[in-house]
Amino acid sequence: TEAARAQIGVTGLAVMGSNIARNFARHGHTVALHNRSIAKTDALLAAHGDDGDFVRTETIEEFVGALQKPRRVLIMVKAGDATDAVIEELADAMEPGDIIIDGGNALYTDTIRREAALRERGLHFVGAGISGGEEGALNGPSIMPGGPKESYAALGPLLESISAHVDGTPCCTHIGPDGSGHFVKMVHNGIEYADMQLIGEAYNLFRDALGFDADQVADVFTEWNGGELESYLVEITAEVLRQKDAKTGKALVDVVVDAAEQKGTGRWTVKSALDLGVPVTGIAEAVFARALSGSREQRKAAQGLASGALGAKPTDVAQFTEDIRRALYASKIVAYAQGFDQIRAGSDEYGWDLTPGDMATIWRGGCIIRARFLNRIKEAYDTNPDLTSLIVEPYFREAIENAIDSWRRVVVTATTLGIPVPAFASSLSYYDGLRAERLPAALTQGQRDFFGAHTYERVDMPGKFHTLWSGDR
Ligand code: NAP
Repeated sequence: TEAARAQIGVTGLAVMGSNIARNFARHGHTVALHNRSIAKTDALLAAHGDDGDFVRTETIEEFVGALQKPRRVLIMVKAGDATDAVIEELADAMEPGDIIIDGGNALYTDTIRREAALRERGLHFVGAGISGGEEGALNGPSIMPGGPKESYAALGPLLESISAHVDGTPCCTHIGPDGSGHFVKMVHNGIEYADMQLIGEAYNLFRDALGFDADQVADVFTEWNGGELESYLVEITAEVLRQKDAKTGKALVDVVVDAAEQKGTGRWTVKSALDLGVPVTGIAEAVFARALSGSREQRKAAQGLASGALGAKPTDVAQFTEDIRRALYASKIVAYAQGFDQIRAGSDEYGWDLTPGDMATIWRGGCIIRARFLNRIKEAYDTNPDLTSLIVEPYFREAIENAIDSWRRVVVTATTLGIPVPAFASSLSYYDGLRAERLPAALTQGQRDFFGAHTYERVDMPGKFHTLWSGDR
């Protein structure tokens, strides 16, 4: 048997795992390779064996035996039961002090459970969110490792070496205990859902309110990517819109079925937000919009339902284009502000003591939601680590002030044209709700006290009150 010489082992060599293994190797680390079916290991070695120093292994025992101590194994298998099965096998073959990293998209509550179980056995378990898809995995992802702080000493430099870097800063940092890494990765994905939905609504307005074809919308997005909206998602939107279908020669987007699918991280984010009581309206609308698009029977049944009298289409194309840009930017700020609220709420709920500014730092590169304005979010948290809401920070406050008239015009115009803009509209309502001096919740409290004696607070004195309502019997 070979000497234990690998600095890291990767098990699960599908798309993500094989690219991350190559990334480690390209950075000079010796990488032990393992996959349930050996064919994937050999395919990787055949195609990319000269990317660096790999150790081919077949069994878990051989794999674990190839690793320097403390052993570090990154699991990149299917989330769920497969991950549990692989952890179990590894844990049996490893020794106290060794580190198991789960880089899959695990549900953070699973990570909390796994970390506790492995800690009992003296093993370090690191739930690491990894974003950036295939390309990021190979060339530098954004990495969100949770788990015991001690393990980061042995692991951090290795992960940081393969992560994306922005201005010399790695897009990887220790997030916090147990499930926190996967929790923030989940919220990242939720924000990604919201961002994609907002971009989709902007596209829809160009198509249905201004009559643009896909190439024309692509040009707008390309232009926008040169300004404050600069981001990976805006950049690829232009590319997706420009893509032609080989079969018909049409824009590909026009031959793709308009029913969006989802794998679950957006839904998890909303479920968690419901439990935490955090209004992540942008993310929720995005998840529901995908669900609505996929409700094929209901959509078919609803074809031809009345629109009512529709308003006129905008005539000033340049003005409306700028209105959409501003509405998108303001709504995007709201979506990120809500996601950061959820991170803080999760941190409080689980006692993680997270630093939200860290997320702004490590999401600037490598990940799907990387965007120029994350620099602004980072600056806001650098200035005030305990900020209450992003939307009240000077830069964002001003950005929304500049956008607000456009934002309202877009929502009004879309509404009078019968074009759905759930995320634009709910983000605006969220903003109006937060800044309102008085909300109808006072009435809600009255109703609750009326039918359930749930009590209410008064504006003019402390305490809880119950009224003997005239309707009471
Ligand atoms: P995947 O399709 O989710 O999983 C395939 C891998 O899991 C294969 O290596 C497979 O081994 C292994 N596997 C499945 N069941 C197993 C079991 N019971 N025991 C042992 N191994 C088992 O692969 P992926 O798309 O590369 O994703 C890997 C992880 O990264 C997932 O958790 C995913 O959610 C997460 N992730 C993916 C992306 C992305 O863009 N794709 C981005 C971020 C995170 P065999 O070859 O033997 O079948």
